[in-house]
Amino acid sequence: KAKEMGKRQLVLFSEDIETDKLERSQLELALHAALARKELRVHYQPKIELGSGRIVGAEALMRWNHPDKGPIGPDRFIPIAEESRLIIPMGRWIIDETCRQIREWSDAGMRGIKVAVNISAVQFRSPDLAGDIERIVASHGISPDQLELEVTESVLMEDPAGVAAIMARLRLIGLTIAIDDFGTGYSSLAYLKTFPVSVLKIDRTFVRDLETDTNDKGIAEAIVSMAAVLGMRVVAEGVETAAQAGILQAMGCGLAQGYFFGKPMDKTLFEDHWRDRQADGALAIAG
Ligand code: C2E
Ligand code: MG
Ligand code: MG
Ligand code: MG
Repeated sequence: KAKEMGKRQLVLFSEDIETDKLERSQLELALHAALARKELRVHYQPKIELGSGRIVGAEALMRWNHPDKGPIGPDRFIPIAEESRLIIPMGRWIIDETCRQIREWSDAGMRGIKVAVNISAVQFRSPDLAGDIERIVASHGISPDQLELEVTESVLMEDPAGVAAIMARLRLIGLTIAIDDFGTGYSSLAYLKTFPVSVLKIDRTFVRDLETDTNDKGIAEAIVSMAAVLGMRVVAEGVETAAQAGILQAMGCGLAQGYFFGKPMDKTLFEDHWRDRQADGALAIAG
């Protein structure tokens, strides 16, 4: 009986795998089409300078509205795009779109907004990433220092010498590099200093319980002092409350992003938000 049940479960389980495989390959095809038909969108989440309350940057985040299934989150479609290497043209697309947007904003007088784009490990290791980005930036006539690249610690782990060389080239072009989700990987202080990184982004898992969890607070403080030693800036991710923003500011964290300041939003909403914050950013934080 038990054996029979085991078999049955195995069948069900393998059916689940098959369904999942099928769904993934269907999504992959749909994603191909979406890229070709220009159905992908970019949302921008503001990055705030805690001292002034002003928007000094944004993170560009990819959005996909599937024709039948509706919105599908990046946590679902990015892994599929990575596996199929479709992330390479998709990544190139979002860099192009972001540079176009930076240009449009600066032409409209919205200056001083630095926009960060996420780069997957697969894309980071693709041939001539730096050359590709350099050409895209030049084609929009923007300054390279208006574009930031976010990579996770996992990128640093494989072939560190190769990665350092690519980063050095990106720095030479004038781009800045941020380490995303910092604290969830295994980078040490000694290891980190070998890469030309300008920004550490404190992962939101350490921000969430900042008010109650002394360990998380300690980790956030350690990242802030580590960044100071290495001459890097710090961005706290996932800030959802005024109390969290206050604690982070008190420990010397310069920048923050999160629902408390604004969710990722389309470009029009971002523009409204930027105008409001330029006018009374400091007041918004104090209140
Ligand atoms: P990430 O780069 O760490 O981006 C931050 C994620 O946290 C975003 O999720 C954002 O919406 C979410 N977030 C921001 N503030 C808060 C907050 O206060 N609370 C909570 N709970 N969440 C917050 P999103 O847009 O769903 O993206 C998820 C991940 O997908 C990103 O994590 C990034 O790793 C990846 N991703 C998104 N767009 C791209 C892209 O264009 N290229 C690549 N390679 N990856 C991307
Ligand atoms: Mg990111
Ligand atoms: Mg992150
Ligand atoms: Mg992430």
